[in-house]
Amino acid sequence: MHSFKDIFEQYSWNDVQQSIHRKTARDVEAALSASRRTLEDFKALISPVAAPYIEQMAQLSHQLTQKRFGKTIQLFAPLYLSNECNNICTYCGFSLEHKIKRKTLSAAEILQEINVIKQHGFNHILLVTGEANHTVHVDYFINAIHLIKPHFSNISIEVQPLEQEEYEQLQRTGLHSVLVYQETYHKDKYKHYHPKGKKSNFHYRLETPDRIGKAGMHKIGLGVLLGLEDWRTDTFFCALHLDYLQKKYWQTKYSISFPRIRPAEGVDISGFNITDKELVQLICAYRLFNEEVEISISTREPETFRNHLIKLGTTTMSAGSKTNPGGYSVDENSLEQFEISDDRSAEEVAAVIAANGYQPVWKDWDKVF
Ligand code: SF4
Repeated sequence: MHSFKDIFEQYSWNDVQQSIHRKTARDVEAALSASRRTLEDFKALISPVAAPYIEQMAQLSHQLTQKRFGKTIQLFAPLYLSNECNNICTYCGFSLEHKIKRKTLSAAEILQEINVIKQHGFNHILLVTGEANHTVHVDYFINAIHLIKPHFSNISIEVQPLEQEEYEQLQRTGLHSVLVYQETYHKDKYKHYHPKGKKSNFHYRLETPDRIGKAGMHKIGLGVLLGLEDWRTDTFFCALHLDYLQKKYWQTKYSISFPRIRPAEGVDISGFNITDKELVQLICAYRLFNEEVEISISTREPETFRNHLIKLGTTTMSAGSKTNPGGYSVDENSLEQFEISDDRSAEEVAAVIAANGYQPVWKDWDKVF
C-alpha cells in the first residue's frame, strides 16, 4: 500500500454509515467482552444502540487508561505564532475572507510569550499557525524551534501540511510531534467547507500523516472537527486511519483529539451536533478500541465537562490557553481563532486534576516513563 488513500478509497461513506446504524445490542455486548477489539467492534461501540452501555464503557475505559497511563494527566499550552492564512475554511475565525488584523510573532515576541507560558509550569508546548507559506514557512518554524527548545522538553506543531523532507528537517531541529486533523473524511463536504487555498486539496491532507510517518516523527496527532458531518461515520474513518498508520509506522506514537466546533468571529455554522453524552461514548469507544492512543481534550470544552472527563479515558489536556497570536502577553486583544470555553488558569486546572486523585504532568509522557 502506497498511502492511506488506497485504503480509504475502498470504503463508501454511505455504506459505513449504514453499517454503524445496523449494529445491534448483541454486537455491542460482543465488543464489550472482546479481549482485542476490531474496527467492527468500534462501529458497534459508537452506534446509537450502545447508548445504554455508556456506564459500562466508561468503567472499562477508566481501567484501561489507568493500566496504560497511570493516574496522570499530561498538560500542554498552545502557542499561536500567527493568524495569517491563505485558506478559506468556513468554520474558522482566521479564514482569508475575514478582514481581521493579521499578526505573526517575531523572534522577540516568541521569547516574550514563552516566558509567560513557562512561568505557569508548562514544559510541553504546541505551536499553532494558519497556512501562510510565504511568511510562516519551514525556516520560520526552524527558527521558532531553536528559540523554544532550550526552555521546553517537548515541542509539537499544528501547522500547514508539509513535505516529508520538511518534516525530516523539523525533526532534526528537535520537533517531537505533529498534529494534523482531517477535519472531515466526507470528501464532498470537505470541499464545501474548504473552498479555497491549499487546504482545499482533500487528498494532500489525507496523505499528510503518511509523510509524517515516513519522516520518522516521534508522534502523530489525528482528529476530526466534530460538527462538520455525522460524527459516527467521521470518527470511524479516523479510527481506520489510526489503525492503518499504527500498523505501517509502528514505531511512531499516536494521539487523537475530538474538537467540537466553537463560535468564532464571522463564523456561522450550524452543523451536525454531538451531545456531551455522545462525546463521552466516543472517547470511551476509542479507548476500548485502542489502549495505546493518547486522548487529548482542549479548552474548547467547558470546565465541568472537562473535569468529568479526567477519569474517563483522557490522557492529555491543554490549559490556560490563548488562541490568538501574542495572547499571553504581547497583544492580548488580537483576534482569537475560536472562543475558549474553559478559561481557568493552568494552576486551577492542575489543582482540579490533583483533587481527582490524578497527577498533573507538565511534559510529554515519553520523557516521564
Ligand atoms: S482552519 Fe487553519 S487553514 Fe483553515 S482558515 Fe483556519 S487557520 Fe487557516
